[in-house]
Amino acid sequence: MIYKFFSSKKFILFSALIIILMVFVFQNNSFQKNFSQSLILNSLKGYESKKSVNCDIYFTLKDKETAEFTDIIVSTYLPHLKDDFNIKPNKPIIIIYPNKKEMKKAVNESKEAPMGAYCAGIIHILSPKSYLEDNVYKYYLKNGPVLHELVHYFIDEKTKGKYYVWFSEGAALYYEYKYLGCEWHKELNEKTKNITLDNLKKNFYSIDKTDAYRKSFEIIKSEMDGKYPDFICDLCKKYIKHSIINF
Ligand SMILES: [Zn+2]
Repeated sequence: MIYKFFSSKKFILFSALIIILMVFVFQNNSFQKNFSQSLILNSLKGYESKKSVNCDIYFTLKDKETAEFTDIIVSTYLPHLKDDFNIKPNKPIIIIYPNKKEMKKAVNESKEAPMGAYCAGIIHILSPKSYLEDNVYKYYLKNGPVLHELVHYFIDEKTKGKYYVWFSEGAALYYEYKYLGCEWHKELNEKTKNITLDNLKKNFYSIDKTDAYRKSFEIIKSEMDGKYPDFICDLCKKYIKHSIINF
């Protein structure tokens, strides 16, 4: 009886459907992303939202102004990035956390709270009010993490999630250099010669963070120098991650 069931057409068909469904869920980046996003957004308690033509921003009441400035930053750089990457992605989702504790929890960071992070298709921003007392928005507009995290969003969308961390970080730093005029640890110029592309691909998190970011920036900058702005699209193809095992 049992043997009959396991060898029946119904069982074979059912198993095949389950396997196809599992492969779809495992490989479908946007399915996973949408699922994670709804879990994260549903877990936000006491947050307001601002839905503009550029982005959806979630924030607590103390960051109403931060949300306004964030929208200004996004509206400034979104058109440039759309041209550079030659895509029109959905509106980015941004969450502004009121303090370091909430930020660390959200991005699963045990040490220091980052100013910004990109994960699960969402841009996570630490309120500049939590680390600045004076000239908060002057600093935020010029040095804030929003542009950097937006570039991560574009790389993710362009490569459909198949990107190396070094590539995404290098590109984010390159666009900060291009649009904000800030260069990541310029004093390290040429001092990262011993780091190879293979090191960056395989051991990004084992290399000193400052050096790994600098080398990634240098590679993207040297590739982009003298090229047309949307050459980044060619780089997305050149450095795409073919395997889901290598990081
Ligand atoms: Zn980054």
